[in-house]
Amino acid sequence: MKKIEHIGIAVKNIENSNDLFSKLFGKPHYKTEVVESEGVKTSFFKVGSNKIELLEATNKESPIARFIEKKGEGIHHIAFEVSDIESEVERLTNEGFIVLNDKPKKGADNKLVVFLHPKSTNGVLVELCQEIKK
Ligand code: ZN
Repeated sequence: MKKIEHIGIAVKNIENSNDLFSKLFGKPHYKTEVVESEGVKTSFFKVGSNKIELLEATNKESPIARFIEKKGEGIHHIAFEVSDIESEVERLTNEGFIVLNDKPKKGADNKLVVFLHPKSTNGVLVELCQEIKK
C-alpha cells in the first residue's frame, strides 16, 4: 500500500455537511459525485495532501443508510492507494483478510475499489483504491 488516499465520513445530509466541513477546513469541497451502483452521493475536500470524502445515502438500502442506522454519522472507512489492486487483493486474501468484492468495481473519483470486511480488520472498513488510467 502506498498511502492513505482518503478518509470516508458517513453523513445524513451532504449539503449541511458540506457547509460544516467547509467551515472546518476553511475552503469549499472541490467536487460532488453520485455513484448510483453504490447508493451514495459523495463530496470531496482537499486538506493539504489529504482528501476527505463525505458520503450520503441515495436510498434506504445503501450501505451508508445501514451504517448510519446502526452507528450514526461518523468515520465510515479509510481508503489506501495501491498501484496494482488485483495483486493486492490476492496478497491480502492469502494473508486471511476477507474481501467484500473480489472483483474491483468503479468507485467515486475515477478509482477502482475493493473493500475489506471490517470483521477481518479489527472493525475498520478498509477500501483499496487504484486510479483508473485514462
Ligand atoms: Zn472512499
